[in-house]
Amino acid sequence: MNFNDKVCVVTGGANGIGLCITNEFSKMGAKVAIIDLDKEAGEKTLNKTTQNGKECMFYWGDISEESTLKGFCDKVIKCYGKIDYLINNACLSRKGIISGCSYDDFNYVLKVGVTAPYMLSKLFLNHFNINGSIVNISSTRSYMSQEDTESYTAAKGGITALTHALAISLAGKVRVNSISPGWIDVSSNNDFSIEDKFQHPVHRIGKPIDIARTVMFLCDEANGFITGENITVDGGMTKQMIYNEDCGWKFTHSELI
Ligand code: NAD
Repeated sequence: MNFNDKVCVVTGGANGIGLCITNEFSKMGAKVAIIDLDKEAGEKTLNKTTQNGKECMFYWGDISEESTLKGFCDKVIKCYGKIDYLINNACLSRKGIISGCSYDDFNYVLKVGVTAPYMLSKLFLNHFNINGSIVNISSTRSYMSQEDTESYTAAKGGITALTHALAISLAGKVRVNSISPGWIDVSSNNDFSIEDKFQHPVHRIGKPIDIARTVMFLCDEANGFITGENITVDGGMTKQMIYNEDCGWKFTHSELI
């Protein structure tokens, strides 16, 4: 894959999966514009990328705010003229109904996880080069859940549905796809039990590069027949069917304890 001189926008590009996406696109020759709340990490990413002789822009701000999104978009277009790829990566959780996630907390997560990806798609719409691509980072939690995760899960369901809606509305202009990562270790401490690893059919926990590679695959114009699609990248975890007492797993329910 060659992304020489392509312009790639990454939300939450200063840490974790977003940082890996930033680094991989940069290595492949792209100019990367990132927006992130974490000023220190953003400036570190900017400095490191620039030191490596690559072009990068860091915009500090909270993507839940419309004025921030407009300011960021204006700066990117002023600097680069057009963009090629928009990677809607940033999200967070403020838990759910059991721990009392409030009206404001719930809406905040939806703003970051769904509204911002929509608004950035809208703001950049007339500034995409041909063969442009939007990749939304969803989660396997868009179709399965643990308790007390409503804010995050609703945002991930939202971004998955937003993906196919945008793919149809933007047909012929920009391809739009999503990725549903499973468990991705962003700490790189690799201190996991054998059980943690082997519950995945591939016998390991995911790494940010597993997601970055899929993002690049979806952006690559050689894969231009793919739009409106979601690719699950979870080491097969959501394909593992488990019944009570399979693999020594014992089902317990609060009503039974
Ligand atoms: P992370 O917390 O390590 O990094 C997220 C980045 O987004 C941070 O740099 C943070 O500062 C930034 N960010 C958060 N809220 C923001 C806001 N309001 N405005 C601007 N920047 C903001 O997260 P990660 O694990 O790398 O996750 C990246 C994406 O992948 C998220 O959408 C997440 O839901 C998804 N995902 C992660 C996993 C996993 O296991 N790590 C699994 C499934 C999906």
